[in-house]
Amino acid sequence: MDWTERLTSGDGRLRTAVDAVLSVVLAPSCAACDQLLEHPTRGPVCDACWASIRPLTPPLCDQCGDPLPAWRAISVPLALCPRCRRAGRFIDRARAIGPYDGALRAIVHAIKYEGRRSLARPLGALMRHRGADVLHGAGCVVPVPLHPSRRRERGFNQAADLAGHLDLPVVAALRRVRATPTQTGLPAAQRHRNMREAFGLTRAGRTLRGVTVVLVDDVSTTGATLEACARVLKEAGAGEVRALTAARVVSLPR
Ligand SMILES: [Zn+2]
Ligand SMILES: [Zn+2]
Repeated sequence: MDWTERLTSGDGRLRTAVDAVLSVVLAPSCAACDQLLEHPTRGPVCDACWASIRPLTPPLCDQCGDPLPAWRAISVPLALCPRCRRAGRFIDRARAIGPYDGALRAIVHAIKYEGRRSLARPLGALMRHRGADVLHGAGCVVPVPLHPSRRRERGFNQAADLAGHLDLPVVAALRRVRATPTQTGLPAAQRHRNMREAFGLTRAGRTLRGVTVVLVDDVSTTGATLEACARVLKEAGAGEVRALTAARVVSLPR
């Protein structure tokens, strides 16, 4: 369904003409909101949906990127959420484009479950923009791997697709060594337990000693997956381990 991608490089006048024809003949609808696309050559998601994706509202936890109650940022020198202050974490800093809802959620779903892989490019551009501080000074990006059986089933790894658009070398440093049961609906502690030992290092992962690494995934839910990955990378000698995801499931500030 990525015929739009082939047209996005055309010149302005041609695109306007092609848009007019396509929207009448094929009447393609936005992958996020289902409204008819006015400019199909600009991609499968409408401008209004892209514009509706808001960032997480600061102040944010310096470490995991969760929103903090406003008073916390001024009352503590290092702005950390309660969870990050309690636990020794392997992720040094995590950021996302925005909360996992609305158009952002629909776009992530369209990539993952409908195979609209061309959306990884504009979504990656938004990750580059909103995650600039996390990417700054990093040596490479490492996509969170899928278990090989899941990867075969889906045909691609959405995290690797996104990682490919972040303007840094992509290193496939990790592999899933254990299939994990579906995590949906499980409490955070259980997720962390299930994830431990789910990942191992690849040969490429052995080259990361001292390197600042950015883990990349589509969604961060409890952070259990990213933490498990970061642990493996830190044990392999990586310097800082940061994380950048398209979306983040936000736990409300307590
Ligand atoms: Zn839309
Ligand atoms: Zn935090």
